[in-house]
Amino acid sequence: MNLNIGCIAGDGIGPEIVKEARKVLDKVADKYGHSITYTDILMGGASIDVHGVPLTEEAIALAKASDAVLMGSIGGDTTTSPWYRLEPSKRPEAGLLAIRKALNLFANLRPAVLYEELAGACPLKEEISAKGFDMMIMRELTGGLYFGERKTIEENGVKKAIDTLSYDENEIRRIAVKAFDIAMKRNKKVTSVDKANVLDSSRLWRAVVNEVAKDYPEVTLEHMLVDNCAMQLVKDPAQFDVILTENMFGDILSDEASMVTGSIGMLASASLNDSRFGLYEPSHGSAPDIAGKGIANPIATILSASMMLRYTFDLDKEADAIDRAVKQVLKEGYRTGDIMAEGCTQVGTEKMGDLICEGI
Ligand code: NAD
Repeated sequence: MNLNIGCIAGDGIGPEIVKEARKVLDKVADKYGHSITYTDILMGGASIDVHGVPLTEEAIALAKASDAVLMGSIGGDTTTSPWYRLEPSKRPEAGLLAIRKALNLFANLRPAVLYEELAGACPLKEEISAKGFDMMIMRELTGGLYFGERKTIEENGVKKAIDTLSYDENEIRRIAVKAFDIAMKRNKKVTSVDKANVLDSSRLWRAVVNEVAKDYPEVTLEHMLVDNCAMQLVKDPAQFDVILTENMFGDILSDEASMVTGSIGMLASASLNDSRFGLYEPSHGSAPDIAGKGIANPIATILSASMMLRYTFDLDKEADAIDRAVKQVLKEGYRTGDIMAEGCTQVGTEKMGDLICEGI
């Protein structure tokens, strides 16, 4: 298969970690008989430096022409970088919002995995972390409270702010289908999270998810209220496979799940649209404090590349090879500085990429 991949190296540690992810993709392609065409795309601060804006029409066209986009991270030091003296719509992060909109990326996928070898970084009690966990949070990204009508008014001299939470059944259906499709590639369980005891939008959410579930008889569906889910994530995270939820609940729960893993340099993510296209990137930022030092952890980006193989290209065997190699390298005791532990061997960005390639 020929994989047509757009590459946004971005800012800060972005170019360093994307280089390693490409190396790993090349190794997989070589081993399994695929070819890859990369197209470099400028975005964020790197685009501001060349074009004066964080995302150009040309960059959007290049992304659209790709099967998938692999991204490092964008942005600089928000207090010292000149990019942050520009008006908000011209700053690096505006490029990210614009590309998500242009590509209609409505589904955000964030895996939270606790690796046995990194259990020490997990802030939960040992009896909980000992079981490990491997969940995928599927968050609706373009609807709900963050995109509803909002206003601030004054009534009888009292200021009042109003935000609107709305979802139509089509918005719910398309993300539910994605969640069930992904559950079919995993442990076949979906936990749909809502607040159906209070909110109308949640009651519609629940009804539509129940309808979609009928097409997936192999997948177990459960519904959970969001307050209970927040508790269960720290009490018994091993119970989850795919968590499906709306925009704001997902924003909060995915950060909670990430923190429970304890290691930001390990967390991948993907944003998907109606087709097989996806934008794959680490959950962390551009870490300007360590940029250029060769010490950034490339694993989140490498695991994002693995998600790309699995969810855009349906290359499960190849994705498994990357995931297995990452686990193996951790098992052998190699660590970048951010996940370093006693008795382990500390390595830099490039060496970590080399070791994962060897594991493949
Ligand atoms: P950050 O995630 O970049 O860094 C937080 C801390 O984690 C830092 O100490 C950093 O050194 C460390 N860290 C992050 N990734 C690491 C890695 N792979 N290996 C080792 N250590 C790592 O968050 P921040 O400092 O709040 O933001 C920095 C910049 O990144 C800002 O400009 C912000 O807007 C941007 N940002 C971009 C994205 C994105 O591109 N999607 C996401 C979040 C933040």
